[in-house]
Amino acid sequence: MSLTTRLRDSLKGLVAQPQAAIASPFDAAAFDRAVMKTYGRFPLALARGEGCRVWDTDGREYLDFVAGIATCTLGHGHPVMIEAVTQQIQKLHHVSNLYYIPEQGELAQWLTQRSCADKAFFCNSGAEANEGAIKLARKYAHTQRGIENPVIITANASFHGRTLATVTATGQPKYQKHFSPLVPGFHYVPYNDLEVLKAAIATLDAETPQVAAILLEPLQGEGGVNPGDRDYFRQVRQICDDTGILLILDEVQVGMGRTGHLWGYEALGIEPDIFTLAKGLGGGIPIGAVLCRASCDVFEPGDHASTFGGNPFVCGVALAVCHAVERLNVIANVRQQGDALEQGLTAIAARYPQQFAGTRGWGLIRGLVLQPDAALTAIDIVKAAMTEGLLLVPAGPSVVRFVPPLVVSSDEVQLALSRLEAAIAAL
Ligand SMILES: *Cc1c(COP(=O)(O)O)cnc(C)c1O
Repeated sequence: MSLTTRLRDSLKGLVAQPQAAIASPFDAAAFDRAVMKTYGRFPLALARGEGCRVWDTDGREYLDFVAGIATCTLGHGHPVMIEAVTQQIQKLHHVSNLYYIPEQGELAQWLTQRSCADKAFFCNSGAEANEGAIKLARKYAHTQRGIENPVIITANASFHGRTLATVTATGQPKYQKHFSPLVPGFHYVPYNDLEVLKAAIATLDAETPQVAAILLEPLQGEGGVNPGDRDYFRQVRQICDDTGILLILDEVQVGMGRTGHLWGYEALGIEPDIFTLAKGLGGGIPIGAVLCRASCDVFEPGDHASTFGGNPFVCGVALAVCHAVERLNVIANVRQQGDALEQGLTAIAARYPQQFAGTRGWGLIRGLVLQPDAALTAIDIVKAAMTEGLLLVPAGPSVVRFVPPLVVSSDEVQLALSRLEAAIAAL
């Protein structure tokens, strides 16, 4: 028997019974000694998941309305993902982009056939996707419009990632503190404010054109579950059409069905020139993508690359997730469960008018918004909900975010609402 056959046989038992494989006491102090303290972590170690539920290392069950922050499209341990992961790892998991990768081509075709884009580039994360989009827009400005010092306009309270260029694009000073010098070539405007945007472009382009692109989220996720205004985006699209400025949409959090549309831009009734994906695209395996119209595809061999980007493993799994989203009618579920969640949250907000101003969001990205003078903070509610067996994540100091797997059932939505209500009542 060959070594690989023996190894595979010895692993069979493990793969078949994930429950039996884990559950040892967790040592948080040892973890903290070895891992950099970049995250403020909750005192909770997760060991196992199934559907929309996860279990901690003590075996306690939680309803997961975080989903790896809007990432686990099909929830945990979905048969489609287990099969895709198993099949692809057995077939071929990684080769270089020195060669054609059939799974990458198939995924690109799936995405471009269902969007306004014609071309795709694959990378490993949201920040990397936005980084690619920024480079593409800069090269377009240099080569197509003769702009020497291109400026990209982004929004206050936006979030585009943690690399130097994307943290600079992010319109939140708290993420930039201590990392100066930041990357030049960014300008910030308030979100959904047309007059300030027009004035900024007029100033920046007064002598010679400088504005290369406008980079916006269709709905600001981290910035507080703040949906884009349809009329604003329609006018931004018009400005871009009139001037040659590129419209880049960061769909990292809302793309892949979360809004009740496959792409967030459909909720706004416009189409971007470039858009980026990551979180939900692979259902939890690390993948990012830059998508663009053929007319913006100015990249040539050598311009941009990623060792892992678009490898057979991630593309094979992401493709299976994409097919499942279609086959299982996931977007219809997002609309139905999103409406139920919205109704339940609105009712809870109405029962505690001193604490909550209301709700906002689309599909299965919803925010419960605290009053400016509320006694509670988003973190208080998230902690109390955790005690009741419900995982939630804040979106800024005063918004509690609900981003469950897109396959969440109506029973699970109702259970989440009752656990939330119990948590609020206990505060
Ligand atoms: C999460 C997020 C990013 C960053 O993605 P990473 O995979 O963490 O790099 C960028 N943009 C938006 C809108 C996001 O929500």
